[in-house]
Amino acid sequence: MLQQTTVVTVGPYFRAFLEKWPTVADLAAAELDDVLTAWAGLGYYARARNLHKCARVVAHDLGGTFPDTEDGLLTLPGIGAYTAAAVAAIAFDRPASAMDGNVERVTARLHAVTDPLPASKPVLRDLAAELVPGNRPGDYAQAIMDLGATVCTPRKPKCLTCPWSEPCRARSLGIAEDLPAKSPKKAKPTRRGVAFWCVDPAGAILVRRRPERGLLGGMMEIPSTDWLEDGRTPSNSDIARHLPANGAWRILDGTVRHTFTHFHLELVVHAARLDKLAAKSVEGIWHPLDKLDEIALPTVMAKVVKHALRHA
Ligand code: SF4
Repeated sequence: MLQQTTVVTVGPYFRAFLEKWPTVADLAAAELDDVLTAWAGLGYYARARNLHKCARVVAHDLGGTFPDTEDGLLTLPGIGAYTAAAVAAIAFDRPASAMDGNVERVTARLHAVTDPLPASKPVLRDLAAELVPGNRPGDYAQAIMDLGATVCTPRKPKCLTCPWSEPCRARSLGIAEDLPAKSPKKAKPTRRGVAFWCVDPAGAILVRRRPERGLLGGMMEIPSTDWLEDGRTPSNSDIARHLPANGAWRILDGTVRHTFTHFHLELVVHAARLDKLAAKSVEGIWHPLDKLDEIALPTVMAKVVKHALRHA
């Protein structure tokens, strides 16, 4: 849950999640849709799907017991190198080296590694692994993460109070704040599309499920055209091809903007109220407007709903 976000944001989600599904068996027995709904707003929904899949593997194939080694954990859905090392160290006190951004920064400074990220990752990984002690590796893993989060901070590291002040090479060279060096980021492209706010005679809204694989996989959405890159906007024929039904469509004022990890998205919303016959011909699910918060709408789609309600 904490990927790309803060403890403050995650706190209420985490508590609600554990209240709903206090054990791995409870989570395994849950419907995926309920899990996605509880996750809605946190982004990176593949994690929610993987968490659910992982719970099923642990509950059904492993008798409800998690593997207690890095290699064993790596076999579970959604568990990559970082999570496997962090869980092996923190939960099972294994001498594993969990590399997050904090640990990367501390390691780069401690050894004055000036090569930029991400190319320097393998070197940093090896250097960090050398420091993992055989004694209390779980405490060590948390200590170095916390050192990075609270002492060896990105800006203004507190070198005077740092327990590694003496051996730290970046501090003695006076370059602590310049590390880790980073390769310049590529500018994010902008994709553009048209979303269709479609209302039936009873006031229900047309939604559909996205394909399981890919961005926002398995989540519900307001139908839209493809999201086009390279400065292109959907042409009239693109729009006609994706239009859910014929009707008196009108373009709503303004644009919905959302930023994903790799691109910005701009959606123009077209709205129509369909008659009974047209509504029947439509592919998708008609969902009551006042119950839209009960389905797993990702943040970008919640923005479309808000925009449509304001401008339709
Ligand atoms: Fe980070 Fe400064 Fe400690 Fe070095 S001495 S590890 S730069 S806080």
